[in-house]
Amino acid sequence: MREKVILMEKTVYLDNAATTRVDERVLEVMRPFFTQRYGNASSLHSLGLEAKQALEESRETIAKTLKAQPEEIVFTAGGSEADNLAVIGGALASRAPKKNRIIVSSIEHPAVYNAAEFLKRSGFDVIFLPVDSKAFVKMDELEKALTSETILVSVMHANNEVGTIEPISEIAALCKERGVLFHTDAVQSFTKAPLDLTKLPADLISFSAHKIHGPKGVGALFVRSSMRVQPLIYGGPHEHRLRAGTENVAGIVGFAEAARLAVGEAPNSTTKMRELRDALIKHVLEIDGAHLNGAAPESGARLCNNAHFRFDKIEGEALILRLDALGVCGSTGSACSSASLKPSRVLLSMGLSHVQAHGSLRLTLSRFNTREEIDFAGNCVEKVVKELREFSAIR
Ligand SMILES: *Cc1c(COP(=O)(O)O)cnc(C)c1O
Repeated sequence: MREKVILMEKTVYLDNAATTRVDERVLEVMRPFFTQRYGNASSLHSLGLEAKQALEESRETIAKTLKAQPEEIVFTAGGSEADNLAVIGGALASRAPKKNRIIVSSIEHPAVYNAAEFLKRSGFDVIFLPVDSKAFVKMDELEKALTSETILVSVMHANNEVGTIEPISEIAALCKERGVLFHTDAVQSFTKAPLDLTKLPADLISFSAHKIHGPKGVGALFVRSSMRVQPLIYGGPHEHRLRAGTENVAGIVGFAEAARLAVGEAPNSTTKMRELRDALIKHVLEIDGAHLNGAAPESGARLCNNAHFRFDKIEGEALILRLDALGVCGSTGSACSSASLKPSRVLLSMGLSHVQAHGSLRLTLSRFNTREEIDFAGNCVEKVVKELREFSAIR
């Protein structure tokens, strides 16, 4: 095996669920907004009007990719803020006597999960929905939890760790029938899985630019025009009075360009990612004691860029460090929890033991990955797993 691994010149970046490289074309459209077109979108002079125009054009671009109305897009400082505005802002706006229940899945990103924990500490009745072994939300449990006291349900579109795509059409329809608000975190799925708001009756949807080759620190919340949310940040009347603060025009312009490019290049790019992902999964599952976490690729309910494995008798952290030394960037799960040695809440919710959860490796692709890189990464995983097992056998 050893001779199969030839050193790559560059880093093979397979941690695209954590963040992505900014597309050069995105950087180009952003650049003038730092140096020449730096106006404040609230100013009345021409520089301000120019910024305002760029802001509103970006809003239209994002709305168009979703078949939404521009007024329904609220720009935020990222996916986490959009999630907080949806969950906390949605709950606060709809709270009433005998209207106090919030339901979120147990595999939500911390931005939703911890916002729900905050609501719980603040007196809301919060239900964390269980998932099955492939990370699908249990629909019968959702039905049971949906009482007349329920205000809001939040279930992510695609999970950021294992890539499972949740049945959000079904969930949204059920919530609509019961008159309950539905929020979905579409940060991972945006531009990678179809999302058509003329068909999906969701009320609130979160997005982030840096997961789609845009800049960090910019995101958006779709707020259906019929809906009320309580702002979390107070100040000027920016963003339809839902989010105060001078708009990050350069970032927002970059976000819109990133979305436009990603939507324009799909379905080619998603087909390419899916093929490379399948090749990687096939290669890695040939290793003894290697398993795939999450939905089967052929089910169609797995994000096109996600591969998530666990290996018997291997420490995920050791695996990541050795892969990094060979130039392959992967993750043990979510970037947010990988600094701590606590096992992933998502994997535990799926019924994995602590030991199984610790032996996990997430490799997530982008449209920039090549077949050569994927073959290299597969060989590196094979080599490192073998070495780590030999090492532990010696000990
Ligand atoms: C990355 C991510 C977020 C947070 O977005 P930021 O822009 O990094 O704040 C929220 N939800 C999911 C599913 C994510 O993957």
